[in-house]
Amino acid sequence: MSRRFRIGVAGGGVVGSLVAAGFADRDDVEVICCERSPQGAQLDAGTGLNIGPNAVKALRLFLPDVASHLSSGGLPWSDWTIALTDGTPLAQFDLGQLADNPGLRIGWAELNARLRASAGSTIRYGTEVVAAGQTEDRPFMQMRDDSGTYEIDALDLLIAADGRYSLVRDSLLAPDPIQHPGIALFRLLCPAPADSPIDDYAQWFNGPNRLLAFRIPGNLVYCAGSFPLQGDTSIPESMKLTDAIRALFVPASGATAESVRFLLDAIGDDEAQLHWARLQERETRLVGASRAVLAGDAAHPMLPTLGQGATQSIEDACVLVDEIRHALADGVELNVVPERFAARRQKRIDFVTGFSRDATDTMLAGADPVAGTARKLEPAFLEKLQQLYRDAPRPR
Ligand SMILES: Cc1cc2nc3c(=O)[nH]c(=O)nc-3n(C[C@H](O)[C@H](O)[C@H](O)COP(=O)(O)OP(=O)(O)OC[C@H]3O[C@@H](n4cnc5c(N)ncnc54)[C@H](O)[C@@H]3O)c2cc1C
Repeated sequence: MSRRFRIGVAGGGVVGSLVAAGFADRDDVEVICCERSPQGAQLDAGTGLNIGPNAVKALRLFLPDVASHLSSGGLPWSDWTIALTDGTPLAQFDLGQLADNPGLRIGWAELNARLRASAGSTIRYGTEVVAAGQTEDRPFMQMRDDSGTYEIDALDLLIAADGRYSLVRDSLLAPDPIQHPGIALFRLLCPAPADSPIDDYAQWFNGPNRLLAFRIPGNLVYCAGSFPLQGDTSIPESMKLTDAIRALFVPASGATAESVRFLLDAIGDDEAQLHWARLQERETRLVGASRAVLAGDAAHPMLPTLGQGATQSIEDACVLVDEIRHALADGVELNVVPERFAARRQKRIDFVTGFSRDATDTMLAGADPVAGTARKLEPAFLEKLQQLYRDAPRPR
């Protein structure tokens, strides 16, 4: 009987589910994907996502079944408008001109459920990775579930797909700091009647304070608001009060666009559940050891300004699946995968993280959204946007 390779994956989120899906029907690979949340539990359910056209393009090329399953759970993302909160239009980006296909608007719970369904029975739910590392050229994972703690060693490859606060990254690599650019973010999902003024992806600025919203399936609107903080501090509780939030977005004239009024009413609703966070990012690390790869947020927790977190995680997963498939086809050891994966991803990730940072300029304290948005209509920005949306990875 031919050899069966064992791949350990920490985390069954975007990257983990896709890698598991990529090998779900193969006998020559055993993917052990550990997800600490129980089956059916949806973390971050109060979130919607705009998945970039580049991830949709990549998925169609590498994992076409997953691409069509995912697309049927969302709405196309075709348009991006920017205005002031009084309704003055500043910019419109037609993705039909800038990308090869639309992106996707989808709820977090729907995204997670559909990706995990694609992985079949490969994901071990309720299983937390409590330690990981590599000894004598072979990685191991120590896991805890209802039955206790146990270890799987002599893995052929270990994939850190355990997200932004990755235990595997911290176990394999020297600590490095998390950076906060000083921006607070809140988000909510709210019911949206058919005649609500929110549809495709739109942003509204009052100074550097920004509202963002779009409709997702299920008669829901996803809304995210952001504002600068005074230095690298936590978010003051006084800023989380409805009146304080409203004051951030109502311009001096007092006149607000109908869509902004809809969002502010939804935020002020007693039932509204706002989730709060600070924007943060961390250095990119793609290789953890000779047989250990970092992917998704574990590798490159980036600023969310261009909606590229899950989008790049999907690109990562596509390239990882491709490299593992090639190694298996060539009959070589999986220790070739980490360096080959990094070689294909490093430049792209550097570009996307840098572009996301640059595009955050209009959200920083003192920013002028009118001048900042005008710069985004210049050829330099538009060319980068096309590079972002069109230059998705291709199978090698
Ligand atoms: C508010 C918000 C809005 C966002 N909006 C967008 C957007 O519009 N577009 C976009 O592209 N991206 C967006 N993102 C980013 C996106 O959600 C992430 O970049 C993406 O989910 C990262 O995928 P991942 O697979 O690396 O990690 P995750 O999807 O976070 O998955 C990690 C998984 O690992 C599990 N896990 C963690 N530790 C362990 C452990 N020790 N053992 C076992 N399991 C573990 C977790 O439970 C989780 O399921 C947003 C993020 C936030 C917070």
